[in-house]
Amino acid sequence: MIRFENVTKRYPDGTTAVDDLSFEVAEGELVTLVGPSGCGKTTTMKMVNRLIAPSSGRVLLDGEDTASVDPVQLRRRIGYVIQQVGLFPHKTVLENTATVPHLLGWRRAKARERAAELLDLVGLDPSRYGDRYPQQLSGGQRQRVGVARALAADPPVLLMDEPFGAVDPVVREHLQTEFLRLQSELHKTVLFVTHDIEEAVRLGDRMAVYGSGRIEQYDAPATVLGAPATPYVAEFVGADRGLKRLSVTPVETGDLEQPPVVRLTDDAAGALARLREEEARWAVVLSASGDLHGWVSAEALAAGQEGTKGATGTVADHCRRMEAWLPLGAPLKQAFATMLQHDAGWIAVLDGDRFLGVLTPAGLHEALRRSTTADAAHLDRSEVTLETVSGV
Ligand code: ADP
Ligand code: MG
Repeated sequence: MIRFENVTKRYPDGTTAVDDLSFEVAEGELVTLVGPSGCGKTTTMKMVNRLIAPSSGRVLLDGEDTASVDPVQLRRRIGYVIQQVGLFPHKTVLENTATVPHLLGWRRAKARERAAELLDLVGLDPSRYGDRYPQQLSGGQRQRVGVARALAADPPVLLMDEPFGAVDPVVREHLQTEFLRLQSELHKTVLFVTHDIEEAVRLGDRMAVYGSGRIEQYDAPATVLGAPATPYVAEFVGADRGLKRLSVTPVETGDLEQPPVVRLTDDAAGALARLREEEARWAVVLSASGDLHGWVSAEALAAGQEGTKGATGTVADHCRRMEAWLPLGAPLKQAFATMLQHDAGWIAVLDGDRFLGVLTPAGLHEALRRSTTADAAHLDRSEVTLETVSGV
């Protein structure tokens, strides 16, 4: 969709801002460009919508050399969001959002209708905010208007240059969450510039880590964190990259353990016999309809049996509730947080309502190690066998 071919940008004063850059952004992909200030991110981005012309090389959009496209036509296909937002101060929020449809010659009513739709989409109630002026909004709200305006003409491509850089961390996290939700619906092709490694990791399908004028690594965030390509990248992503990886590594079925599973309505004696047979100390308990209910220990089942001389009731009489669960594919960080929150030695992993197995702290640790090794070797995680230090 967007393709850089050996692109170099030298400014008249001799600064080489971008040096022989080649990379590609697939359709519907969100790529973050991350690196320290002055490394050439903005220059890269502005060559896509021809605010800057390359000194050499080509930038292709949908296979077409952008140098041969009329810049005005080109920019209609490309939404552009910048940190300073650049809203017109004397126009209302609704008018600001309708700017591009208006320029495209849409009827006024249709343009306003579209603007209201977009404001709604970015989480601003148009009836409440539409008639305000930009200075009557918070910084975070102004950024939302900036995003709404960029999306108004429904361009396939979005360029975003540190769009959330000027808001406080809490608001920034909100905006990121909403932007991810939006992107999961809209599937735009996005180039997103940031100097914030956390933001790049969180948002990017892939991330391009910039050194000075060059891309040092172009990979999925988990790979960049798990297998930094150069010492520069390793330093840039930080010594806590292992921790950061927790947020981008999903729970997979191969990470799960399979304790015995019994139902609330099962006969307790039968459940105990099964636990003994499988030499398990406890079982997961599901409700009659298969929802997670909790767990029951062999000990509790056995104690019940003695007290009532073998008349034992059902599993429901002996089990305990446990509500710590996680959907399959959730990040390991969420798994870890859930374990801590419930002070639990395991959490159930569900696919929709279906119980799949349990994740333990040991399983979590293995999943992380396995995925790190897998990413470094470009393998599937399930293909990795771990060497473990035993007997310690
Ligand atoms: P980033 O967005 O990563 O902070 P930029 O692309 O803005 O970096 O800048 C890359 C380099 O090019 C920097 O050294 C910057 O000083 C230089 N630069 C940017 N714009 C110009 C310009 N118009 N003239 C000369 N040098 C520039
Ligand atoms: Mg910049």
